[in-house]
Amino acid sequence: AKKIVILGGGQAGAQAIQSLRMGGYEGELTLIGDEPSLPYQRPPLSKAYMKGEFAEERLFFKPAAWYEDNKVELILSTPASRIDRKNQIVEMAHGAHVEYDALVIATGSRPRSLPLDGADLENVHDLRGLSDVERIQPQMVEGRNMVIIGAGYIGLEAAAVARQMGLSATVLEMAPRVLARVTSPVMSEFYEAEHRRQGVDIRTNARLARLEGKDGKVTAAILEDGTSLPADLVLVGIGILPNEELANEAGIACNNGILVDRDARTSDPRIFAAGDCASRPLVHYGRSSRLESVHNAIEQGKLAAAAILGKPRPPEDCPWFWSDQYDLKLQIAGLSQGYDQIVVRGSPEDRKFAAFYLKNGTLIAVDAVNSAPEFLASKKLIMMGAKVEPDTLSDTTVSMKDIAA
Ligand code: FAD
Repeated sequence: AKKIVILGGGQAGAQAIQSLRMGGYEGELTLIGDEPSLPYQRPPLSKAYMKGEFAEERLFFKPAAWYEDNKVELILSTPASRIDRKNQIVEMAHGAHVEYDALVIATGSRPRSLPLDGADLENVHDLRGLSDVERIQPQMVEGRNMVIIGAGYIGLEAAAVARQMGLSATVLEMAPRVLARVTSPVMSEFYEAEHRRQGVDIRTNARLARLEGKDGKVTAAILEDGTSLPADLVLVGIGILPNEELANEAGIACNNGILVDRDARTSDPRIFAAGDCASRPLVHYGRSSRLESVHNAIEQGKLAAAAILGKPRPPEDCPWFWSDQYDLKLQIAGLSQGYDQIVVRGSPEDRKFAAFYLKNGTLIAVDAVNSAPEFLASKKLIMMGAKVEPDTLSDTTVSMKDIAA
C-alpha cells in the first residue's frame, strides 16, 4: 500500500499506526479522529484519572512530537462521514476527503443511551471519553449524591471512585445481580458485598422509571415502585454499541460489529476493522464476537498492520481484561460463557481468590481477584485448550506454575 488511512484515533487506531511504522511502512499515513485530543487510553477514565490521581499526559499513547517524527498526518476534531469504496476515499464532515490504498476502521463504540424521561437533564452523564470526565469530575464533590445506572465494570469502578472521594453512591441495576452480563454469581456476590461494605447503596432488580429535575438539572431518580432517590449527578453505564454505521452504509458486511477475518480484514479486501467496532473470529472458542477490551484493540491493530504489510500473522492471545475497584485488582482471562463448572481457589474472605470456569473439563476462563499467578497460568492453559482436574485447581498447596507446567 502507498497510502494508508486510519479511521478513529483510539486504542486500536493508535496501535495500527505504531505497528505500521515499526513494521517498516514508509508510505503516507493519515489518522482521522473526531476527538480533539491525541490518541489516549480509556481505562484510567473510570479509575485513577477520575479520582485525580493520574496525570493527563500519561493518558496519551505518544506525544505530539512522535507523530511528527514518524510522519503521521493527524486530522483531529474531524468526523469521517462516508466511505466511498469505489473511488477509495474517505469523506469528512467538512467536505474534504482523503484517498486510501488500505483503510483501517477503528471507530470504537458509543454508550447506549438511557431510553427514559429525564435522560437529557443536566448533570446526567455518559462515560466514554476525556471530555466526559471533564464534565463529571468537577461535580464529584464530597457529600453529593451520585446515582449510577448500570452495575457493569464502568458503573462499579465509578462507584468505588465516588466513595473514595466522599460522595454517597447509589447503583441501580435492573438484573438480579451486579456484573450479570459478564461474570458468574460467585463474583457478583463478592463485588456486591464489597461495595455495600464500602457504603455503596446497591439496588438490584431496580426498575428505573425516569429522572426528575429542577431548572433543567437532575434532582432525583424515580423507580417504578415510586421510590425517589436524590441525585446531584447521574452516571449512565448501560453498555455500548459498535460504531459500524460508516461501514454498513458503504456495504461492508456487519452483524453487531463489522465482520472481519483472522487478519482483521472486512468483506472489502482493502478495508480492515479493529477494536470495539469489529466482530472477529475467537480462535480459542470457535465462534465470532465483538470484544470490548484494550487487549482486543491492540491485538487487532497489530493483525491489521501485519496483513496490510503482507507479514506473517502475529499470534492471537486468549482474550483478557481487568478492572480496578478499591484495592481489588480483578484480572480476567478467557470468556466464561457456556461454562458447566466453577472451581474456586482461595477464599473471597481473604480478598484474594480465583474462580475458574470449565466446560467439559477444559479450562475456558478465570476471574482472578488479587491473584496474578492464577491469571497468568490460566491464560497459558486456556490457549493450550488444557483439561485440568478441579481438585488440583482448588488445591492452594499446588502452585499455579506447576499446574500450568
Ligand atoms: P476507542 O478507543 O473508543 O477509539 C475509537 C475512536 O474513534 C474514538 O476516538 C472515537 O471518537 C473515534 N470515532 C468514532 N467515529 C468516528 C468517525 N466517524 N470519524 C472519526 N473518528 C471517529 N478495557 C480494558 O481492557 N480494561 C479496562 O479496565 C477498561 N476500562 C475502561 C474504562 C472506560 C471508562 C472505558 C470507556 C473503556 C474501558 N475499557 C477497558 C475498554 C477499552 O477502553 C476499549 O475496548 C478500547 O478503547 C477500544 O479501542 P478502540 O480503538 O476500538 O475504540
